[in-house]
Amino acid sequence: MYWVDKVAKEILESGKYIPYWVDDMKTPSGFAHIGALRGPVIHSLIYRALRDLSKEAKLTFVINDFDPADELPPEFKEKYKDYLGFPLRKIPSPDSKYDSLGTLIAEDFKKVQLDLGVEAEFLSSYEMYRGGRFDGVIKEALDNAEKIQDIYQKVSGSKKREKGWLPFQVECEKCGKLGTTRVFAWDGKQVSYKCEPDLVVWAQGCGYEGKITPFGGTGKLPWKVDWAAHWKVIGVTIEGAGKDHASAGGSYDIAMALCREVFNYPEPYKLPYEWFIVGGRKMSSSKGIGFKAHDITSIFPPALARFLFVRTDYRESIEFNPVGTMVISDIFDDYDKCWQAYNNDSDPNLSRVFVLSQIKDISQRKKIFLPRFRDVANYLQLAENLQEKFEEIKGEKLNEYELKILSEREKYAKIWLEKYASNDFKLVFSEKLSEGAKKLDVKQKEYLSKIIDLINKSDRPEELQLSLYNLSKEIKLDSKKAFSAIYQTFIGKDHGPRAAWFLLSHPKEKVIKRLKEVSKA
Ligand SMILES: [Zn+2]
Repeated sequence: MYWVDKVAKEILESGKYIPYWVDDMKTPSGFAHIGALRGPVIHSLIYRALRDLSKEAKLTFVINDFDPADELPPEFKEKYKDYLGFPLRKIPSPDSKYDSLGTLIAEDFKKVQLDLGVEAEFLSSYEMYRGGRFDGVIKEALDNAEKIQDIYQKVSGSKKREKGWLPFQVECEKCGKLGTTRVFAWDGKQVSYKCEPDLVVWAQGCGYEGKITPFGGTGKLPWKVDWAAHWKVIGVTIEGAGKDHASAGGSYDIAMALCREVFNYPEPYKLPYEWFIVGGRKMSSSKGIGFKAHDITSIFPPALARFLFVRTDYRESIEFNPVGTMVISDIFDDYDKCWQAYNNDSDPNLSRVFVLSQIKDISQRKKIFLPRFRDVANYLQLAENLQEKFEEIKGEKLNEYELKILSEREKYAKIWLEKYASNDFKLVFSEKLSEGAKKLDVKQKEYLSKIIDLINKSDRPEELQLSLYNLSKEIKLDSKKAFSAIYQTFIGKDHGPRAAWFLLSHPKEKVIKRLKEVSKA
């Protein structure tokens, strides 16, 4: 049974967590890293697995746009520096399409989620506070301020109780900052607060003191309290979180304890998931390589982007090192394996991965021919007619759906070759002679000098390929050594694509000049 289905089964068999309400959240303080998609996809998977068990389920995603900005995306750092400490929803938007910077960032992440088939209902924390939905939990939190501090201390073992501390922050009526205010009194109806000049290092309060009702969106709960509170407000019963929140005594544990002991609401099902690591060499953005969540659909078609997260158990970390490697091409191969398993009703786990990776329900016909990604990239480099090439391999015409897949792969293979592919794979007519070309033996040089004639006579790659092979037999040179002489001469490698296609895809005079140069050296 696939891990997603095991989790769903465990949730079901526990008899708790009803109704099945799956939830995730994120603070829109900067454009999300590619790895931030792991949470939304995992939640979407659990939701789908529950639905597949014919259970009614809900999936929501909370945008924490009422949180104060404690940092800004680099591109807006200078422009909006005076807005640090403001609720994200109150920072102006550089694009008039959105009401705030918070919304612009949230919409960017939402769009990728939708592209990857995450079917959540998106909720704004700001709107929920403004609409009064948090009023009840705000009162409970303020009335239980000491208990909350005790829980912090008991669970995390740090922080001593601070006299007069209250779990609320007001949006300063004078300067508009929320991250700088401290509430010091609560009379059951109103909170008294001060906008402190040095409460935090990232923003400076104005010093104003005021008294205001805490209800209806005048302010918000601090985040761990807010996290627990929003489970109750929305009715969440299942919420995963990244490993960084899940250490013993960490925010997950604190929120769970607050949920139970302060809000008298049952703890949601806990699902701490592992890291997503982008590593490897050459991580520079100078080549226009991005690893933001919104970049993923320029690296992969949507279903493959989803597949990247689906195929790994949530308890295992994912390492993604696409630059200068074969990783992207390998992921296409792995995806095709799952697709084949689905086609042939073979390996049930692989087949399940394929199904769960689809953006919408499956409507593809079974038994389709899949043009291998690596071959697409290879033929592109050889300037081949892709359709003809793959029809030759398939042995018959590609159908409409297969042509669609082929053109999609062509698009992504071009990007891969330009930005990510390993140099060993790229077929580039080398500018300078390789060391290998200088070390060819007499027999190999003889071979190279004799193929000049063949190239002059031939324009058809199939025919030339055969002649190249026959020539090696004729002069009694091992064919592997013969072809490696060609590859060394042109691309500086021992291996390469089908030689004739490569030779004929470049100007003949250029090819012959190089052959003369090497064979006479
Ligand atoms: Zn202020």
